[in-house]
Amino acid sequence: MYKYRDESQINCVILHLQTTIYFMNSDIRIERIKESKISGVDFSNLPFGSVYSDHMFITEFVDGEWRDPRIVPFEPIALSPSAKIFHYGQSIFEGMKAYKDANDDMFLFRPLENGRRLNKSASRLMMPEVPEELFMDGLKSLLKVDSDWIPTTDGSSLYIRPFMFASGNGFHASPADAYTFVIATAPSGPYFGGEVRVLIEEKYARAANGGVGYAKAGGNYAAQFYPTHLASKKGFNQVIWTDDNTHEYIEEAGAMNVFVRINDTLLTSPTSDRILDGVTRKSIIQLAADLGINTEVRKITVKEVVAAAKDGSLKEIFGAGTAAVISPIAGFGYKEETFTLPVLEEPMAAFLKKKITDIQTNKAEDPYGWRVQV
Ligand SMILES: *Cc1c(COP(=O)(O)O)cnc(C)c1O
Repeated sequence: MYKYRDESQINCVILHLQTTIYFMNSDIRIERIKESKISGVDFSNLPFGSVYSDHMFITEFVDGEWRDPRIVPFEPIALSPSAKIFHYGQSIFEGMKAYKDANDDMFLFRPLENGRRLNKSASRLMMPEVPEELFMDGLKSLLKVDSDWIPTTDGSSLYIRPFMFASGNGFHASPADAYTFVIATAPSGPYFGGEVRVLIEEKYARAANGGVGYAKAGGNYAAQFYPTHLASKKGFNQVIWTDDNTHEYIEEAGAMNVFVRINDTLLTSPTSDRILDGVTRKSIIQLAADLGINTEVRKITVKEVVAAAKDGSLKEIFGAGTAAVISPIAGFGYKEETFTLPVLEEPMAAFLKKKITDIQTNKAEDPYGWRVQV
């Protein structure tokens, strides 16, 4: 019944046998790449998300169950032109990271939060859920096979991209009858380079009430590209999304949650149908509270941010998300005006970023139990 195709899995299987029946069924098969690509990668000069590791985890949902979970070489996936992903956009994803410390121990950061959010996205798009055990087993097995791909230089990590799409066929607009779930990884350097200037959006919206903004659904990002392109033509790197109804409230920064510091108070919008429940966002809220930073989770008006920029009480704006962790914003545009944020000696953005990345990389105590060893 158990097919041990990889020596390194044996200990793992024995451990699991003692606690769970699940792994017996999942029996993740491993097909190794013939020749690793790792010697061709310059780990001292990594881009973000465009160099891929040797392997990926893949499983298909057919007839109501996830079948043949396996680790195979990172390679193209063949689909029929009638696969519903191409026509109706049933496609969701997650973004997370793995880190290695000086002892070569591997860590994930709050991985179950991503597993659960994937399933929230799946429900909204009429796609099947991935059992938490399958998500975690697939992820950990993949990381063990490709552990050499986790970079150790400062600011670098292994970016992990779990995703699911409709592989079932038909030109009929209805949910597909088959799905594919994949986890692929990319050793990555820091996300942004240079100063980030943002435009507060007055016309377009990334999400609406009753819509799919809270899901990591592929189409949400496709819909952002055009307004972001228009903003870039005006000299801005990103868009600050406002509510679709009035455009009076600040909601997200690009594909990140947004924080605004006015004097010494940190503000962030509450999550909603339109705002993604970011793991980085909620970690920052918790850390800030425990560090004694006055934090308010409430609606933020464009008006108050513009007024604060004019009277000097606006100290910082930053985006928060897994890829960049915390991305400071240097200035913003609104209608015909542009505003530059002050250059601070000790920005809260840098302080919080260090706190969070020290926990992620095992350089600091983790009183929250966020760090998970692989
Ligand atoms: C992924 C994402 C975030 C950040 O979520 P994290 O869990 O912190 O990575 C924020 N906003 C949007 C729109 C996103 O897609």
